[in-house]
Amino acid sequence: MNLFDRIREGLSKTRKALGGSLGGLFGSFSRADEAFFEELEETLILADLGVETSLRVTEELRERIRTQKLKGAEEIREELKSILTEMLETGDRAPRLGTRPSVILVIGVNGVGKTTTIGKLGSLLKAQGRRVLFCAADTFRAAAADQLEIWAKRSGIDIVRQHEGADPAAVVFDSISAAKARGTDVILCDTAGRLHNKQNLMMELNKISRIIDRELPGADRETLLVLDATTGQNGLVQARQFKEAAGVTGIVLTKLDGTAKGGIVIAVADALKIPVKYIGVGERIEDLVEFDPRAFVDALL
Ligand code: GDP
Repeated sequence: MNLFDRIREGLSKTRKALGGSLGGLFGSFSRADEAFFEELEETLILADLGVETSLRVTEELRERIRTQKLKGAEEIREELKSILTEMLETGDRAPRLGTRPSVILVIGVNGVGKTTTIGKLGSLLKAQGRRVLFCAADTFRAAAADQLEIWAKRSGIDIVRQHEGADPAAVVFDSISAAKARGTDVILCDTAGRLHNKQNLMMELNKISRIIDRELPGADRETLLVLDATTGQNGLVQARQFKEAAGVTGIVLTKLDGTAKGGIVIAVADALKIPVKYIGVGERIEDLVEFDPRAFVDALL
């Protein structure tokens, strides 16, 4: 299956919901009047774009219809797609992985799909020809490292771990030493970077950061925040808190296959202005795809 079909399949629930109601809206389109804009706004809110973003999209479309004198359903629909695509273009999506080794820290609350995402991302990076090392710096629960180890075996990727309760920064230190010795390209680091409270999270990440600064000065780094798309607007609240506390450089939205509210991707990108870099569209190892705004919008509408 090619990438576009995989995204389409993963988004099938959202596509049915949003595509269905937009199809109805444009199918019965006669002119861009108040009733049209109201229905459009409602449809976008139902797809979880959020009130603010839905209003912005609707107003922008209204403005473009006026200035560009758009009339037909098809050209208006295309303009809507352009607006949504532009909203999703929030910065450079290519991961910064130029130095060897570079480091990706993965953070997010329990259950959002953090470990699964690391497993899939490791496999994706490996398929791109990179040498990957997993770093099990979530030492808070032994199960987290065990689960990461299963993914490591599945994808043939080395893992560095320690005992439960070990200092996460010490695991990162070990991983860096191993990576230097083995010529690893990317260290992919699971963290207990959860938001018990902002201070805890900042302290933990700062400590890890200091180790990386000291051992790998100037290394390329990413901090990816994993969000569960099925939690909708709640995920957005969570994301704002993480953004303040953790210097997030990219978002991964998981479980898009499990929701009819995939519009949350647009809400997140619009509200946070942080690029969505990957989306999870299923539980299989190949179900993580690099995010492409145009392909996403095309698959959606
Ligand atoms: P963590 O606690 O954040 O590390 O979460 P896990 O990686 O253990 O994932 C929690 C559950 O979500 C598991 O059952 C995963 O299989 C599931 N999951 C993760 N990503 C996706 C996805 O993109 N789609 C679906 N359907 N399930 C996912």
